[in-house]
Amino acid sequence: MRVCWLVRKDKCCQRIKLPHLETVVIGRGPETEIRDKKCSRQQVQLKADCNKGYVKIKQLGVNPASVDLVDIGKDEEVKLKPGQILHIVNKLYPYTIQFLEETWVSGAGVEGKTKANKRPYVDSGNSDVENMSEKSMKMEQPDFQDGSSSCKPNTNSSSSSSSSRDNSSSHKEHLGHWSQGLKISMQDPNMQVGMTHPVLGITFTTPCSVYKDERVVVIKDKYPKARYHWLILPWDSISSLKLVTKEHLQLLEHMHAVGEKLVQQCLDKDSLKFRLGYHAIPSMSHIHLHVISQDFDSPCLKNKKHWNSFTTEYFLNSHDVIEMVKTKGKVLVKDGTPELLKLPLRCHVCKQHQSNMPQLKEHLKKHWPK
Ligand code: AMP
Ligand code: ZN
Repeated sequence: MRVCWLVRKDKCCQRIKLPHLETVVIGRGPETEIRDKKCSRQQVQLKADCNKGYVKIKQLGVNPASVDLVDIGKDEEVKLKPGQILHIVNKLYPYTIQFLEETWVSGAGVEGKTKANKRPYVDSGNSDVENMSEKSMKMEQPDFQDGSSSCKPNTNSSSSSSSSRDNSSSHKEHLGHWSQGLKISMQDPNMQVGMTHPVLGITFTTPCSVYKDERVVVIKDKYPKARYHWLILPWDSISSLKLVTKEHLQLLEHMHAVGEKLVQQCLDKDSLKFRLGYHAIPSMSHIHLHVISQDFDSPCLKNKKHWNSFTTEYFLNSHDVIEMVKTKGKVLVKDGTPELLKLPLRCHVCKQHQSNMPQLKEHLKKHWPK
């Protein structure tokens, strides 16, 4: 079953589900977090057609809603397609739509098996971090790790309590440190919502998570650097790429296969390119494979370090990592890798130099699918 999501462009994690052919009305209110009095409580009406791949938008409020900066007009109706931008009122509050293939799972299949499996970090009993939300843990993040005001995820998807603990006694990292955030997210039910792929029998997604099986879990990156940005994490505790050996080859291959399936289930797969890979020097603990679309259309992509980490050799292709482990027995990081983050900005498609981030972002639009 295909599901449509209305995704706020300047608040990465705010999403509103638009069920097939159901009328949804949005405007000022808690769901959109719009407080602007110019926006009516019933500002626009939306009706997704998941088969045809568009959403019909009707402006109900007095002030103009627009699609790609063209005003709709009161009581007028237009079609919104993926890639187009809906501004709710007065060219403010931008949203796009995404269609995803989803089939609910009902306790069987991989989802069922996973529940029965023992997972590292899960503590069903009392834990010193039990009921501690990410917010209350005051996770400080360096600049490279995002999380600035325009990029805060919706509290609906991030404020749930996490019941996580590192079971390994040798592992003394404090889960409240920002670098441990993935370990919390991977256990957070709001980050991973189960749906089953009709052919694979594996579980796919809604708001923040995507898939899990007995070996890995997929979560949406909390600060996505592109329209689609997922992280694939093994349940096994492997804190860093440096610790990967030949023993982990099957796991790395499985992570890659799951990544490829994710791309296959993405309805934008024909118009967008994707890369699967690892940061040579990751900032977050617990190995994670990035699956990221190459549009780099995201407000969370803010600085040179973000850009260079995904578009230079700092980003290691998953295939190359697997090959390196096969031939060299481990992942070797070249000298000079940290310096790659300081390289001048260059478009990853046409290689043109860009003088700053706003210019690069404007330039990237040229390469987006029409
Ligand atoms: P890296 O460790 O550099 O390979 O990348 C870590 C990724 O994790 C970045 O893309 C962040 O946006 C993302 N991230 C940081 N904290 C969290 C979190 N708590 N949950 C999910 N994703 C996160
Ligand atoms: Zn270019």
